[in-house]
Amino acid sequence: MTKQNVVVPEGNPTPLFPLLMPKSGGGGFSVRRKVELVGEGGSISVWVESMKASSPTHASSSDAGQLDEKMSYPSALTMFDEIASSLEGKQIVVFLDYDGTLSPITDDPDRAFMSDSMRDAVRDVARHFATAIVSGRRRDKVYNFVRLAELYYAGSHGMDIKAPAKGPSFMKSNGKAVLFQPARKYLPMIDRVYKALTETTKSIPGAKVENNKFCLSVHFRCVEEKKWSVLADQVKSVLRDFPKLKLTLGRKVLEIRPTIKWDKGKALEFLLEALGFANCNDILPVYIGDDRTDEDAFKVLKNRGQGIGILVSKFPKETNASYSLQEPSEVMDFLQRLVEWKRSSL
Ligand SMILES: [Mg+2]
Repeated sequence: MTKQNVVVPEGNPTPLFPLLMPKSGGGGFSVRRKVELVGEGGSISVWVESMKASSPTHASSSDAGQLDEKMSYPSALTMFDEIASSLEGKQIVVFLDYDGTLSPITDDPDRAFMSDSMRDAVRDVARHFATAIVSGRRRDKVYNFVRLAELYYAGSHGMDIKAPAKGPSFMKSNGKAVLFQPARKYLPMIDRVYKALTETTKSIPGAKVENNKFCLSVHFRCVEEKKWSVLADQVKSVLRDFPKLKLTLGRKVLEIRPTIKWDKGKALEFLLEALGFANCNDILPVYIGDDRTDEDAFKVLKNRGQGIGILVSKFPKETNASYSLQEPSEVMDFLQRLVEWKRSSL
């Protein structure tokens, strides 16, 4: 990876964060015909089956009732006082996923709007803490949903990071404007695959390919269950011609991204460094997300032994997070309580 992938202010000839530059994801220039899969033991069929099992048409209504017993990680609302005591005296940085965390999951990804009250809650959070949105969406799209200029935005699963143009001094990334795009050289390839996937999958009603700039999403949400395997096979067949791209599995979505070792966890570390917190002991990141891709960030927090990971889920799931919230409305409650706690401690 070269410095051409990092856009820094003029007059600064070196990458700002050389230690965090992504490594190439292996494979070099050799052509691999095997499509790399990440998650669920690397098997798309296992993923399709687990997706069917967790869809509302299959999950029994008693699952929700037994939620508390089955989850080994407690509610971040119930445990708020405990969380607040661990926040005491720390510099808090808040990381928020978008879909399923700030906005409800919708059939049409273009209409995943967040509520005005959620926007108010996030705005309040950003008045007190450095705050970043970390999403698989393209950065401009997630910005258009959130519309708060004072936040950091990490789009394309962290492959497109931009510091806020305005906002409090603790959000100014050491006073430098930052635009970090470690996968820029993949843009033409991503565009080609977007066209190929759109063409290949058009025979499947409801299939939607979303161009997230540095990565792509193939949405299964509006596709009939019996067609899921066919759609997954179509995606795999297109990817066979692109060994520098890999597939990861999400929530009723297949994600296609460059094989660089970069994910939401790396984005979290990058942002902590950008904010000047890389070597601080008194920093406490709070990360809230609902997807498999958020597990990379939860894992980073776990490994650092520093920070609070909160999984948004109605159903019990294996996770590296420490707490849970059931849905976006609970996320909003949590954010409001965080702000109240901060105000009362000032
Ligand atoms: Mg999400």
